[in-house]
Amino acid sequence: MAKIRLEHIYKRYGKVTAVKDFNLETEDGEFVVFVGPSGCGKTTTLRMIAGLEDITEGKLYIGDRLVNDVPPKDRDIAMVFQNYALYPHMNVYENMAFGLRLRRVPRDEIDRRVKEAARIIKIDHLLNRKPRELSGGQRQRVAMGRAIVREPKVFLFDEPLSNLDAKLRVEMRAEISKLQRRLGVTTIYVTHDQVEAMTLGQRIVVMKDGEVLQVDTPLNLYDFPETKFVAGFIGSPSMNFIRTRVQVEGGNAYFVGEGFKVKANQTLGASLMPYNGKEVWMGIRPEHIGLKGWTTVPEGENVIKGRVEVVEPLGADTEVHADVAGHMMTAKVDGHALVRTGDTVELLVDTSKLHAFEVEGNEKAIG
Ligand code: ATP
Repeated sequence: MAKIRLEHIYKRYGKVTAVKDFNLETEDGEFVVFVGPSGCGKTTTLRMIAGLEDITEGKLYIGDRLVNDVPPKDRDIAMVFQNYALYPHMNVYENMAFGLRLRRVPRDEIDRRVKEAARIIKIDHLLNRKPRELSGGQRQRVAMGRAIVREPKVFLFDEPLSNLDAKLRVEMRAEISKLQRRLGVTTIYVTHDQVEAMTLGQRIVVMKDGEVLQVDTPLNLYDFPETKFVAGFIGSPSMNFIRTRVQVEGGNAYFVGEGFKVKANQTLGASLMPYNGKEVWMGIRPEHIGLKGWTTVPEGENVIKGRVEVVEPLGADTEVHADVAGHMMTAKVDGHALVRTGDTVELLVDTSKLHAFEVEGNEKAIG
């Protein structure tokens, strides 16, 4: 096991800065996920850790060793890619053994490691098959098996599940999580899928435009996003944002929008006081909005009227997309709520779950 430490890491390609001032220290055995939209620099950072890209500036440590100039094969890491790149002419056993052979690991040691890994990832019955005789999920398992037999200090995963169908992705996600806990190997996992990030990561690094916006546990990212971007990126469906004006009245703060006035609770209200008269984003997650008559959210100074544009029944919940003065608002309501396109509805906001963000600069969270 090993900690990974990145200190002020930069990557520049000519004039393009792909990664800016990246700082992170993992725990021993921790599962850390890098997440962010396409082009934000996740893969570049992972490849720098792997040694597949030079580091322009900054220091990278694996364990206590500065590894900036250490070649990939001497870093004690194993990487699993999106396209698993198995050798088509070799069977599963040979694919898993190949890297060890190159390293001149003794034959009986190779045999022990391959069989052990195959047992752990449940492919022991497939060892004689060629890659073309395997399903996508099985191939992905073999790719992981190949990483496991190396017995590395660090696993690096680059979108390993993106070629699999939705159902298999969910299954493999659970497998990777179990496997990582069982082996206890420090892991960095890159994905653009926030659900994958939330379910796998002990901590998540949210990136945008080459910069780290927030590093936190999944729940803290969900509950306490530090910027509007993180708030919108984490959680599905995404948080609703409505541009409002803050109005302070009788010691309370209100979000005033077109056709509604929602009262902030005491805590958020106190932070909103200095914004009196100014514009802010009001943020509320779809799951924190109820439909009047079908919710336990009490009615008070928290009603937003809208006209239903789309109804998406999902069984337990229904997603209602309503037009509120020209803006779409999504509410996740009781799956049995009777609601139809064209209805005028009253949406009740759970005021203990409101967020506020500045409208300027990095759109930082208020409070
Ligand atoms: P994706 O999810 O699409 O893979 P990413 O977050 O992994 O995106 P990177 O692949 O790390 O993003 O790319 C970060 C930025 O660096 C992008 O703007 C990309 O165009 C740029 N970039 C990456 N590789 C090179 C290169 N070899 N030369 C020039 N620019 C590059």
